[in-house]
Order: sequence, then C-alpha cells, then structure tokens
Amino acid sequence: MSVLLFFIDGLGIGSRGPFNPLDGLDNAEPLAIFRDEELNTIHDGIVVPTDASLGVEGRPQSASGQTTILTGVNVPDQLGYHKQGFPNKAMLEIIREHSIFLQLTRAGVTPITFANTYTERFFNERPRWVSATTAAVEAAGLPFRKVADNQAGRAVFHDFTNQALIERGEEVALRTPDEAAAVLASIVSENRFTLYEYFMTDKAGHAQDMEAAKLILRNLAGVIRGLLKQIDLNQTSVILTSDHGNIEDLSSRNHTLNKVPTIVWGAAKESIANRIKTLADITPAIVQTLIEEGGASV
Ligand SMILES: [Zn+2]
Repeated sequence: MSVLLFFIDGLGIGSRGPFNPLDGLDNAEPLAIFRDEELNTIHDGIVVPTDASLGVEGRPQSASGQTTILTGVNVPDQLGYHKQGFPNKAMLEIIREHSIFLQLTRAGVTPITFANTYTERFFNERPRWVSATTAAVEAAGLPFRKVADNQAGRAVFHDFTNQALIERGEEVALRTPDEAAAVLASIVSENRFTLYEYFMTDKAGHAQDMEAAKLILRNLAGVIRGLLKQIDLNQTSVILTSDHGNIEDLSSRNHTLNKVPTIVWGAAKESIANRIKTLADITPAIVQTLIEEGGASV
C-alpha cells in the first residue's frame, strides 16, 4: 500500500460563526468540519481532532509543529517552546536524524517523494533558513521537483493552480483544482509515500482576509475532492493534517489553540486514525503502517 500526506498550514477545527470562512461556504467538503458537530466527512474519511499544543504553553507555531509532524518527535516538549517560521539549529538536527523520509528509507519503504515544485531561483538565491520540508528532503538526499517537472505534469506548486509561479515569470500553465489533483494523484501512484505541502491557508489567516480565505478554501477542497476521486483508495491512504489553527478564526491575526483536523481516507484508515492523538503521532502511524502492510502495490 501507499500513503499521501497532504499537509495544510494553519487549518484548525473552529466554531461556526462570522469569523470562520468555512461556515456556509459552498463546496467546502471535506474541510467544513466544526467543533461540537458530528465529524462526518466525504468518502467515509475518519476525522481525528488532533492536539497541536503538544503539552507546551503558548500558541502552536509552524517550525515546531511541522518538525513534529515530519519526525514524530514532540519538538515543543523536547525543546520547551513553540517556534514560528523556519526550524532553528536544534530542530534541523532532529529533522536530519528522524525525518519520515529517513525512517522510511531505513525501513526499505521506497520509492518516496516530495511532490512540490521548486524554482531554480530558490537554489540560486538560497534563503538562509529553509522550511522543515526542504530540510527533510535534503537530509534524505531526495531529488527536488523543479519547474520543468511541473511543465511535464510531474510536480505541483505549493499554490497548486500555478498562479504564483506564473506571476514570477515561469512558463507554466494555469491548473484547475481537478487538473492539479490529477498530477498529484499520478505522483502518488508511483510512490509508496508522497508528501505535499500547502500553506496559502496560513497566509490568509494572518491577513484576516475573508474573501481570500473563502476562495482558497473552496479551491483547496476541490483539489482534495479531485484526489479522492482519482486515487485508488483500496491501495492508498490519504492523510490530511495541519500544524496549528489559524484560518478557521479570522477574528484574530494569530494562530489559534484549536485542535487541527487530521482526516484519514482509504486503505488502513482505522488503524492509522487509531494511532493518532497529537501531531507527534503522524509519522509513527505512517511508518508503522507502511512497514506492517508492506506490499508491492507500486
Ligand atoms: Zn502562521
């Protein structure tokens, strides 16, 4: 069997009300999940409200949350703080030792991949600090997918429509949510483990921009619906999760203390969902499941 981990930055389980862009939004399935309501979602996905605070006071943040998701190490507990932005040295050390890519490679679970598109400019003008995902891919020696891969239908930009790539002058075609889903589904079909990362949600949350948030969430929900239609759920688990809440409450520009929705669809969904309580359980659940289920399905 195989797994797609679809990571969404800054999506928590909020209440209904005027500050939640998901409340009353058309075509918001499967993301329209509200606190104090039944946690049903399409395609019989199992919704696990997941603790992002990890036992440490303060608002959960991206660097510590993402490092936790990608390693299974409870980083806020180990280091004593939540950290925003990009991983610091201590977090990079944890990523370089424990990332999900390394754990799967050591266990012989291959091929594995990161589906996101990188530009040449990223490598030429390399930023001083990089995301947890970038660090994890590098530490595992995995190749990055580039604009040429995107053009050939073999990579998905973090803004899956390609709009932001086109604005940067790259020659790629605009994609509908369904077209982006088809590309990602094809990458998933060639790998035992695929990671995809989306972070426009967190940006819209910080901007407190209701119209942008609604547009982003409707398109994002469309990509996920397209994936669930195009991926063979008998052979593949699709796992959606987030590092902390944000976009579900636009009354504040900060992250929230809400639990985040981990949603599991497809193969082995019960056993994966049963293993997950906090963000630190995501990587162990995936690694254990892929080792136990084995299989030459790819
Ligand atoms: Zn943020």
